[in-house]
Amino acid sequence: MAEFKFHLRRHDGKPFCLLYSPQTSELLWEETGERVSLHSIGISYDLNPSRQWPVAKAVSPETPLGKSRALRALKIQLGLKCNGRCGYCNQTARPPESHGTLKDAKAFLDKLPSWLEPAGTDGLGSGLRIEYWGGEPLVYWRTMKYLAEALHQRYPKAVFNFVTNGTILDDEKIDWLDKYDFSVAVSHDGPGHKTNRGEDPFDDPFSAAALRKLYTRLRPKGLVSFNCVLAKNNPSLTTVREHIASRLGCSPDDLPLSTEELVLPYEDAGYQLSLHTDADHAFMRHSLYRDVTQGGALPTLNVKEKLEDFFRSIAQGRPSYSLGLRCGMDREDTLAVDLKGNVLTCQNTAAGDGHKIGTVKDYANIRLNTAWHWSKREECPYCPVLQLCKGCCLRLEGNLWRKACDNSFTYNLALLAAGLRLLTGGVLTEIGGNVLRRHELPGIAPVVDSVWNG
Ligand code: SF4
Ligand code: SF4
Repeated sequence: MAEFKFHLRRHDGKPFCLLYSPQTSELLWEETGERVSLHSIGISYDLNPSRQWPVAKAVSPETPLGKSRALRALKIQLGLKCNGRCGYCNQTARPPESHGTLKDAKAFLDKLPSWLEPAGTDGLGSGLRIEYWGGEPLVYWRTMKYLAEALHQRYPKAVFNFVTNGTILDDEKIDWLDKYDFSVAVSHDGPGHKTNRGEDPFDDPFSAAALRKLYTRLRPKGLVSFNCVLAKNNPSLTTVREHIASRLGCSPDDLPLSTEELVLPYEDAGYQLSLHTDADHAFMRHSLYRDVTQGGALPTLNVKEKLEDFFRSIAQGRPSYSLGLRCGMDREDTLAVDLKGNVLTCQNTAAGDGHKIGTVKDYANIRLNTAWHWSKREECPYCPVLQLCKGCCLRLEGNLWRKACDNSFTYNLALLAAGLRLLTGGVLTEIGGNVLRRHELPGIAPVVDSVWNG
């Protein structure tokens, strides 16, 4: 069983150590063997010996996963066409067969009742989330409009959401999104946007006005957020927040910001924007740590949620065997499908890329065999940030997987250090273990240097 020693330093410079097991979520004082108090973060231990933790399905090509018809999340991929040119996106230059048409949407809707049985019992879509994905979904405006209106009629209690680059919004689309209570996430990387993603919609007066209108309209309903990707050249959530807020004309405190964390390298451009040297990793780790503990990163939606989830894991003694993958695509009740009825590994893949895992016509034979649960990876069972990272991406392989894991390790190490700072007041300087992710890596990982202790 992997167990790690956390080396920390108090304000007065005195060192102390904690012992941590990501398998059992136990966090103990090394000196006394007692559990670390959760008092400082306002929660207490909730160790219920009769709690039944669900066992996550350990999917892999050898142990594939079927999909349930009782879906909780339906991710519809409209097609991979995009009008943007994000460096780390793999959704460009796809063959025409990956683009859904209005005719495809009609056929898709006709067949839907033969395979979809939303998880809720009312038949109205309660408990079902329908996501519309591209490329850029609004490139498929006519198709998306037709589809969503028909789905709303059929499942009026389902919730709708989509992610957009915000460049082709207009009044008609905003009115429509508002009418159907869409939850909209706008991808924007703040100051790194132009370099990493191409044109900044805030530089175009028409798009900027549309984004401001979208924000004004949906913000009171809590249905708009901005979502950024961090990269080697764009490390600060605080700077991203300030940049977007100033363009929107709102207070930074009133900006709902989330992050996809550090770039996951799906392709070469994402690989280039990743961390490569020890100095890159050290810089990112320290920047993020400082951003969360002293800057404005803590209110970032999924930074706060991740830390709360980590604290809860300790409070409840959450075992690692209950952990599914971060994105949820290893759940039986979560399905990604294109308009031709091809079932996909996830919404970021295409049927022609080896990620077709079945069809809705032959639902019983859908097999997710293009994915690896964290327990099937070399690294994750020996990783001190497993409870925070949850195995990063389930479909990446080879060098791209290793880079994704390295990026995720640094991101989550910074969050772990920030969490321990909140919990104990100490600064996590290094972590030791028999094996730290890979057998060939050193058994000690540096975290926060004394010069950053502030
Ligand atoms: S950082 Fe790497 S080893 Fe650790 S849980 Fe994430 S993907 Fe797995
Ligand atoms: S499998 Fe990877 S690329 Fe697909 S949604 Fe999950 S994290 Fe994203």
